[in-house]
Amino acid sequence: MSDSTISRRRLLRKAAAVGGAALVVPAGTLSGQQRSGPPGPAARTFRAWVSRGTGAGRTTLQELTLRPIGGRQVVVRTEATNLCYSNTTTVLGLPGMFAGPLTRMAIIDGHGGVGVVEAVGPEVRRVQVGDRVCVSGTPQCGNCYQCLRGRADMCQFLGRQGLNDLVPIADMRDGTPVYASSHIGGLAELMVTFEEWVVPVFTKATAVELGMVCSCVAVAGLGTATSQTLASIAPGSTAAIVGCGPLGLSAVQGARIAGASKIIAIDPIRARRDLALKVGATDVLDPNVEGDRLVAKVREMTSTPNNRLWSGGRDSGGLLGGSGADFVIEGVGADRAKPKLEAGPDPTGVGPMRQAYEMCAPGGHVITTSLPNGTISFPAVFFAIGGRTHHAGQAGGANPMRDIPRFVAMLDSGQYDAKALATTVVPMERMLEAYEEVVYRTTVTAILAPA
Ligand SMILES: [Zn+2]
Ligand SMILES: [Zn+2]
Repeated sequence: MSDSTISRRRLLRKAAAVGGAALVVPAGTLSGQQRSGPPGPAARTFRAWVSRGTGAGRTTLQELTLRPIGGRQVVVRTEATNLCYSNTTTVLGLPGMFAGPLTRMAIIDGHGGVGVVEAVGPEVRRVQVGDRVCVSGTPQCGNCYQCLRGRADMCQFLGRQGLNDLVPIADMRDGTPVYASSHIGGLAELMVTFEEWVVPVFTKATAVELGMVCSCVAVAGLGTATSQTLASIAPGSTAAIVGCGPLGLSAVQGARIAGASKIIAIDPIRARRDLALKVGATDVLDPNVEGDRLVAKVREMTSTPNNRLWSGGRDSGGLLGGSGADFVIEGVGADRAKPKLEAGPDPTGVGPMRQAYEMCAPGGHVITTSLPNGTISFPAVFFAIGGRTHHAGQAGGANPMRDIPRFVAMLDSGQYDAKALATTVVPMERMLEAYEEVVYRTTVTAILAPA
């Protein structure tokens, strides 16, 4: 037994004697996070969209009083935040929304956003007051099992968003405590989050463009195509992007930036296919026109120019032939409401996901990102020895601290076209009408810009 071991034991014993047990963090809380006390005398007020109860009308604009912060909390003055499709049911109170105990709490919805740090708790090291930051859709603590093994997209803090994990960040006029969904609460003039969720970004980009590239969907799309966590697209390879919402259109751009030689964008909505061509797709396909031939069509399109097997060629025959896209990025998902523009062939999103898998070349990579509704099935032998590698992750595998600054550099250098994708920009008061555009897919990305 070494001297250092002995001394450490002595120290621990001493710590326990003076109340070391107080260091133990109660189960269910984010370790080290401090629950806030009552508001102080000069408390800051701000406006936020607060959701409570069920049904349409559950989300209303409220003036809130900020609670004092502590620990690793960070207050960010929101410059811009995207209205994520995955939040539509909860924000608009659509049928089928999750109706658990969280609906009884007053919660500010909203995924990632960008803004300026207004205050930090005493334990915060990552950012300073005045910094411009991206509040990431996924956290990165840097210390948990997943972060340490290179899967920051699966950081275990991501799972700490339940009933017992959320902390009140503000109060309504009637004293009701208000919580930030996912520790972000983007639909507000202030976001109160934790250090794990913020990434400093050093750029002079406009609020809307920065909000676009730092949105949960753009980070996921650029992540699928270029993050080294999953399967970054190799220069000269072929890519198919299934689904051209803001995530898919960011993946199209990521594929272009990564140097793919062929980028096939697939979406039922004509305006989205046109936009895909504008931001980097080399070809577009309409799944309603192609129907059951969609997979065969992608195989045909990726089998040229050489099909001589002795000469490095690929053929388009059979599921174990050589053709198919080298990289397939899937971003379709289930419809939360019937689209007012062209609806796709399968509202559950499962069919397009299966097609995405099938249109991948043997030896290729399939990256799935969407939220489909149902169960997927494949012939087991095809799944077992078909040679496709499936990658699944949060945010397209993006590692926030490593990748988000890179994505911002893509914006600043002109590689990423944020303007083309930010098709609706609204002030605070018009958040709900912008969300209607999102749920009916009449816009690509809606950005809320409170300032
Ligand atoms: Zn999102
Ligand atoms: Zn972590």
